[in-house]
Amino acid sequence: MATFELAAPSRIVFGAGVSTQVGPALIALGAKRVLLVTGQSSRHSEAIHGIANLSVVAYAIPGEPTLAMVNEGRALAVSEQCDAVVALGGGSAIDAGKAIAALAGNQGDLLDYMEIVGKAQPLPRPGLPCIALPTTAGTGAEVTKNSVISSPEAKVKASLRSPYLLPVLALVDPDLLDGLPSSVLATTGLDALSHLIESFVSIRANAFTLALAKEGMVRIARSLHPAFDQRLTAERREDLAIASLFGGLCLANSGLGAVHGFAAPLGGMWKAPHGAVCAALLPAVMRANIAALAKRSLQSPSLSRYRELSDLLAHGGDSVAWTSALAKALGIPGLSALGVRADDVPLLVEKAKTASSMRGNPIVLTDEELTTIVRESL
Ligand SMILES: [Zn+2]
Repeated sequence: MATFELAAPSRIVFGAGVSTQVGPALIALGAKRVLLVTGQSSRHSEAIHGIANLSVVAYAIPGEPTLAMVNEGRALAVSEQCDAVVALGGGSAIDAGKAIAALAGNQGDLLDYMEIVGKAQPLPRPGLPCIALPTTAGTGAEVTKNSVISSPEAKVKASLRSPYLLPVLALVDPDLLDGLPSSVLATTGLDALSHLIESFVSIRANAFTLALAKEGMVRIARSLHPAFDQRLTAERREDLAIASLFGGLCLANSGLGAVHGFAAPLGGMWKAPHGAVCAALLPAVMRANIAALAKRSLQSPSLSRYRELSDLLAHGGDSVAWTSALAKALGIPGLSALGVRADDVPLLVEKAKTASSMRGNPIVLTDEELTTIVRESL
């Protein structure tokens, strides 16, 4: 019998215009002073300014969150006596906001709770309530219970993970994608596609995540390329926002695979958009997994799911070729363009083997297979 558990925010509200619900939601929470965490761009932050009886303390992070940024944001939330956090932006802003909110309600050092670079202790209690509003369609961070935070000293990205990191409310408003630069649309969209594909073939996939992944893939397959090439219409915004949201629910509840297993060390060692790294790796990972399953695990349900990708993504054609062509059409270069060299491959393979995402991969890949993946992705 199948058993599975679902973790998700208490409420997810989806639809064009729902970002206006942030004010009433904060008032309902009893919030009087809110920390607004945004990324480099504070696009759409007017949604939260000017709400009656609510003062806003703004905190912008200049890039992907680091340990120092999260500590600084937590100190600000505490000294300003904020009673709620709104995380508005792409995955970086949302991950930072979730981590700041969780820590602001707990004692102890951030490193006490960090995986890999810290002590990985469980967070003792809930933090400040966090409301998340994504302005990109990619990470699905608004519905996941971890924050990816980098340690520039250790040159690694690691997670702060706890059920207390789940926002109390995710407001997913496709209209917030309006005005997104096309390069960001491309990399974030390909990240969402990677989440959907990897969770669909994951050994931990379940009936819930499989259904969501299928629906997400159909929507992203029909809308990402036209949105990049032509126009980000209202219908395409909705498709991409749903695909991203479903990708987040899938990854949080069924794990990922080798693409994200490699993306963790790559993101720590080279400065590159996460989605570009994933897109560069995706075709070679699919090829390696299909070959390994065909050789060593012919009865695996993941292998038949790989066959289903042909219909879901490529109108019955070759899904690996389709993925590779999409990444090229969206201007995603190979890993060598990011500065990865053939000499780096052995270290990358070593680090990827211990990454948490690797545990969801449909089959354990040999060192030789992992090496081939990076070589083919250069
Ligand atoms: Zn990702």
